[in-house]
Amino acid sequence: MKTIMVDMDNVITDGNFEEYLNEFLGRKVDLNTEYNYFRQELIEGREEEFKSFYENKNLYENAPLIKDCYEVLKKLSENYKIYIVTAYIWKQNLFKPEENLKNKFLYLQEQLPFIPPVHYIFTENKSLMHFDIKIDDRVHNLENGDMKLLFATPSNRRIPDEELKQKGITRVENWKEIERILL
Ligand SMILES: [Mg+2]
Repeated sequence: MKTIMVDMDNVITDGNFEEYLNEFLGRKVDLNTEYNYFRQELIEGREEEFKSFYENKNLYENAPLIKDCYEVLKKLSENYKIYIVTAYIWKQNLFKPEENLKNKFLYLQEQLPFIPPVHYIFTENKSLMHFDIKIDDRVHNLENGDMKLLFATPSNRRIPDEELKQKGITRVENWKEIERILL
């Protein structure tokens, strides 16, 4: 069976970060126009203030799965070995890493019960690991994958197709497209 690495943030779920961000900034952020590489850039200079407000909040509480993710992953799990590979410590350290790790674990168990917890890999450096297929919304995380699928998000929208082509990366718009490619 071939192996698939699946990223969690912005591929399985968007979590509640956007809601927290809107609440903190007191306005609705338009991610399509304001989003640089990290949404965290929008709170630049106010990290400590943000952190003290939100460090005990659960980023995944009641967060919906991204459309068709459950159904497609369920089908894929019958044909591939699926590993969820996700970072729980962020550079800015906005949320307590030990809580973030626990919240991610519990969310995955509850939402995707057909993927065993021994297939969760919590790490910062995904490019160290080889997989037959990698699905992620960040280009550098796709390194070391035989097939590289970039999950489209506002953050990677502006990367030119030519650059993706050179790196052997295919942009996928949604989970249905992943289903068509892999099944
Ligand atoms: Mg991600």
